Amino acid sequence: MDAKEFREFGKAAVDYVADYLENIREHDVLPAVDPGYLLQLLPKQMPEAPEAWREILSDVDRVIRPGITHWQSPNMHAYYPTSVSYPSIVGDIMANGFGIIGFSWICSPACTELEVVVMDWLAKFLKLPSHFLHESEGPGGGVIQGSASEAVLVAVLAAREQAVRRERECHPEQSESEIRGKLIAYSSDQSNSCIEKAGVLAAMPIKLLPAGEDLVLRGAALKEAIERDVAAGLIPVICVATLGTTGTCAYDDIESLASICEQHQVWLHVDAAYAGGAFALDECAELRRGLDRVDSLNFNLHKFMLVNFDCSAMWLRDANKVIDSFNVDRIYLKHKHEGQTQIPDFRHWQIPLGRRFRALKVWITFRTLGAQGLRAHMRKHIDLAIQFENLVKADERFELVAPRALGLVCFRAKGDNEVTSQLLQRLMERKKIYMVKAEHRGQLFLRFVICGMDPKPSDIQFAWSEIETQLTSLCAEQQVNARKAGELSELTHHLSGLQLTNETLQR
Ligand code: PLP
Repeated sequence: MDAKEFREFGKAAVDYVADYLENIREHDVLPAVDPGYLLQLLPKQMPEAPEAWREILSDVDRVIRPGITHWQSPNMHAYYPTSVSYPSIVGDIMANGFGIIGFSWICSPACTELEVVVMDWLAKFLKLPSHFLHESEGPGGGVIQGSASEAVLVAVLAAREQAVRRERECHPEQSESEIRGKLIAYSSDQSNSCIEKAGVLAAMPIKLLPAGEDLVLRGAALKEAIERDVAAGLIPVICVATLGTTGTCAYDDIESLASICEQHQVWLHVDAAYAGGAFALDECAELRRGLDRVDSLNFNLHKFMLVNFDCSAMWLRDANKVIDSFNVDRIYLKHKHEGQTQIPDFRHWQIPLGRRFRALKVWITFRTLGAQGLRAHMRKHIDLAIQFENLVKADERFELVAPRALGLVCFRAKGDNEVTSQLLQRLMERKKIYMVKAEHRGQLFLRFVICGMDPKPSDIQFAWSEIETQLTSLCAEQQVNARKAGELSELTHHLSGLQLTNETLQR
């Protein structure tokens, strides 16, 4: 493909994507395909001869699009949102065009320096403590990771290495493997699966401590666990707290956790994958309480802030702790500007060596929307969730199972779990809206999350009407079934009476 053809294909693809996003409400949010549908449609081997882009684009529409779950549809209400915006798409196209692998400053100075700039912009926008800024005097700073899972793993691995070094200094008589065998980490039983996975990958058990009735993890639970483990000879390393849990968007009590972590030299990481964007809103200032005492935190721009996947911001109070832990050098990776302040070699801050130019889409998105536009987008999500919450509250057949938090409403049909379960099954079969279920203390509930690039109040009304009419018809069916069951048992009773009469007559 030459540049001329690339222009034609690229322009046609941009038109295709713009048409798709503009008309996304035309599609059912869930695809109507069975497992293996695409495997049957595509050849088993790649084509030997080149094919024309027009044919390929038409196949995207014919075979790929029907198998897409439309995450950008305003009828998507499952998981947490994943953002897309036009400026961010353009940023990704341009980054792909430059095609750089910016693992050190010299590998593309613009990649590193733009990341430093946007991470400081973002830290200020979110009103994070100033020690997280690159421009601050201290060793803090921000980096863009691919996902929250990677950010958490980086924090867990760095905390582990720091703890091992500290222990070796204090107890030189102990071998490294002895020390590693005693390490232990903590999180809440409400935290995302990626936290537990980080423990598996780091070969360090992560204890999932019981959150309170309100699903919040507090210092008291951590204190009890640490004291018990220290008494048993274990070495506490890190606590991963969550601001905005995956199930109900509960906020752990960072202040009380920080007090315990400080006493025991335990690294405190905050996973604010979804809720982090709300730090920017004055009405959510409470969420920032205690962040001045944490060692690191992460937040996904690809969830709530209109930057395309993947883009997870991570800040470190002392980046040297990560750099020291991960620094493995080779002569070919060195350059003469290494070690200068404000031009970090981000390869030491992450798991892979190579790194994408993610800062470009962030910069283009921030400039196109401005801080105002980003705040307005998050407030729109919150307002739409309030609209949905009010609809739930006004219908006595439903109940909320947790307070609404940002763009998430957790609710269920009153009564036993079967009704909620069958309601979701019907909704999934109809494919008009997509929600997922969750469970808390034996109660099944549905998570309704505001998603999509441009959700509107009419979309919420649409979803609500889908939910409540399906509950109405489910209840009606259940009543018919109950009546039929009643009639059947009456008939059986009657028949057995007749049989008895017949037997008596015969005798
Ligand atoms: N943490 C929380 C609180 C989440 O809700 C999620 C995903 O929704 C994750 C972590 C995982 O995010 P990622 O897919 O970026 O690893």
